[in-house]
Amino acid sequence: PSLEDTLLSAIRTIPDYPKPGILFRDITTLLGNARAFRRAVDELVHPYAGSKIDKIAGIEARGFILGGAIAHQLSSGFIPIRKKGKLPHETVRVAYSLEYGLDEMEMHADAVEPGEKVILVDDLIATGGTAEAAVRLLRQMGADIVAACFVIDLPDLGGRARLEGLGVDVHTLIAFE
Ligand code: 5GP
Repeated sequence: PSLEDTLLSAIRTIPDYPKPGILFRDITTLLGNARAFRRAVDELVHPYAGSKIDKIAGIEARGFILGGAIAHQLSSGFIPIRKKGKLPHETVRVAYSLEYGLDEMEMHADAVEPGEKVILVDDLIATGGTAEAAVRLLRQMGADIVAACFVIDLPDLGGRARLEGLGVDVHTLIAFE
């Protein structure tokens, strides 16, 4: 089967989650499917195989699972980008807007050295607000962001264009209208 068929058939869609009118793309079924999980990681890694990538930055929580596998494959380090209050050492923090109100995410202040090559990873990009906040945090610490990678793009919500507008290369595997 094609990459697209393998991934599309492994992702479960949950109507009205987390609230009425939302179609939630659930990747736990993809993660639980050995062939689909391997295929997704292989395809996310492929453009960077053989390049020296210092760190993979994963966005809590599904970005940790994909990012950990990608870091192993590229022999890179891993940086967790977390909701505020979860990291034990000194952090840098950024506020970003959600549909209702503001939230903050943070990473350890010593997680990245200036000039290090970093790939940002999450499961899905929608409006791009979450990924943009992570890009701002990483750049604040001097990271050189090589790309941002996602399994799923929701192109109607404009996240890819938003990140590209910041000069970030975006790599996604499948799209849902
Ligand atoms: P954005 O900030 O781009 O609007 O939303 C993306 C963030 O919300 C990502 O961290 C992603 O994990 C989460 N997210 C939003 N909608 C979905 C969805 O339908 N499925 C999954 N798996 N995550 C979603």
